[in-house]
Amino acid sequence: MKLKKGDIIIAVILIAAVGFWFYNNYVSNNTEVNNLVIEVNGSTYKKIPVKELKKEQLFHIEFENNRHIDIKADETGTWIEDVICPDKLCQKTGVINKVGQNIVCLPNKVVIYYEGNVVPEVDNVAY
Ligand SMILES: [Zn+2]
Repeated sequence: MKLKKGDIIIAVILIAAVGFWFYNNYVSNNTEVNNLVIEVNGSTYKKIPVKELKKEQLFHIEFENNRHIDIKADETGTWIEDVICPDKLCQKTGVINKVGQNIVCLPNKVVIYYEGNVVPEVDNVAY
């Protein structure tokens, strides 16, 4: 079967239409809920849907060497409330509230981050 010029144009329009539909349904109207993930020693300790953080939650984790970490999370973000940690870099990180940000506590092997699809920044379109 040989493709005529007209067929190719129709194919291109179809691909563009499907692409546009896909973009509208999956990218711009992204409704997927992000999770807060707490990893300890390389494995998932807790995975909490963000909608469950409307009420402030405290995650207290104890370690073998008498250390502990208190992670607090609410709808505004997640932060280290209290920690026994030599450098306290994790606590100095402050509040995280976006996919792509994380809090790492190397001495206690704790990693905290948000997961989910990133909603495109609406601000970028305005410029
Ligand atoms: Zn730390």
